Amino acid sequence: MSSVINHIPVDVLHAFWQECERLLLASQSEVQVYIEQAIQAVQSHAKEHVPYYRNLTPFPEAWPTLSKYRLQQTTEDFWAMDVDASDCLLWQTSGSTGEPTRFLVDAWGQTVREVSLLLSLSIAGVSLPHLKASISTDTVMIRLSSSEGLQQWHRPLPLLDNCLLQKFAVFEHPECDVDSVIEKILSLKPPCLAGDPQAFEILLSHWRVLYPEQTHCPYPVLFLSNGANVLSEPLRQKLEAFFGLAVSDCYAMAETSVIASQCPQGSFHVHIPLNILESNNESSENPSAPLWVTHFPNAAMPLIRYETGDWGNVSTKSDCHCGLQWPILHTFEGRQRRFLMNSSGDPVSPSKIIPLLNQLPVAQYQLIQKTATDFELRYRIQNQSILNPSTEKASSDLDQGIKTALQLALSQAINEPAMTLAFSGSEQHLGEPGKKFQDIVVLGF
Ligand SMILES: [Zn+2]
Repeated sequence: MSSVINHIPVDVLHAFWQECERLLLASQSEVQVYIEQAIQAVQSHAKEHVPYYRNLTPFPEAWPTLSKYRLQQTTEDFWAMDVDASDCLLWQTSGSTGEPTRFLVDAWGQTVREVSLLLSLSIAGVSLPHLKASISTDTVMIRLSSSEGLQQWHRPLPLLDNCLLQKFAVFEHPECDVDSVIEKILSLKPPCLAGDPQAFEILLSHWRVLYPEQTHCPYPVLFLSNGANVLSEPLRQKLEAFFGLAVSDCYAMAETSVIASQCPQGSFHVHIPLNILESNNESSENPSAPLWVTHFPNAAMPLIRYETGDWGNVSTKSDCHCGLQWPILHTFEGRQRRFLMNSSGDPVSPSKIIPLLNQLPVAQYQLIQKTATDFELRYRIQNQSILNPSTEKASSDLDQGIKTALQLALSQAINEPAMTLAFSGSEQHLGEPGKKFQDIVVLGF
């Protein structure tokens, strides 16, 4: 019998949502038991069905973390062997989430996006019956995305005839036709809006031009969710002033959807029905550490202890005043990928150099472009106290061969034969406390 679910019966979905509702009210010990069982379930499924995990030691607690680079190199080893690929969605990741591509997603995986939205609503304190009562049209939520391609669609959600979202509209790429999106919002009056920061920014600026007299959204919005990158403080303030309510920010990645979202107290609670997040903090002086996610719902391609590329600090227990006992992502220092510049001022993708950077024997790197031809590579030497002995990275400084290869690759990437690349090693975390870590930095020039 196939272990991969291709069609989810409605009663199975409802049972899953009931389990989510139980967990929203669960005690700390019940939450811990649930998490342990969910981890064991995904590990035993992976051991039995997925080539990569079958070839590891039989003891999952000794499994190494999973790097994006490894996933990219051996993608098909992560597909469950009894997957019927024709029934699965093959998903290409892109944009800020970066390098890994070709995710196989089964029916549960496809449902995750809706479930995570419902969890975000519940965590933000939006009462679902209240939400339902406020629905005057068949559109509950409009999602705004600045990703490429213009699409406009409505579709029924498979989950919930009892309390949830009946229809859900997505407007992609609002800069293409933002005015019609605003008209749609004003005619449908969806109680929820979700989107990425850039899409919200574009929406607000067009709204001000179209309706200069409107300083506030002219109908009540119940839920405002940022669904992509962490919001900047100025944008958060603008959104909260215009819509008259707090934005529920979230931590998300394309490979897993939403991982954690904000409650009314401002804490980021990890969505434990769908995934757990771990951080391996080296010391109390440096509270930030690499974040690993283990994703539960996608049997077609399970990701276990997957290196998100982000840094932060997770506590396994919640002491949040909202009462929810789900673990909390305390500090978050995300990554941000920037384009390099050539001497004509045109952006150049760092994609040619990133595979080399990912193979460096270092714990962390940051490439800084100071002028068109002047670069610095900062790196943090691997600390062997990190519990990851099987990593391919070793504790050593960079040797001359690596430095020369990097210089050559970078010079070809930006087409500048005369560029220089300086190197500086450090034992400290390269990010600044409380600030977003960037692996590629282009200084203004
Ligand atoms: Zn809370």
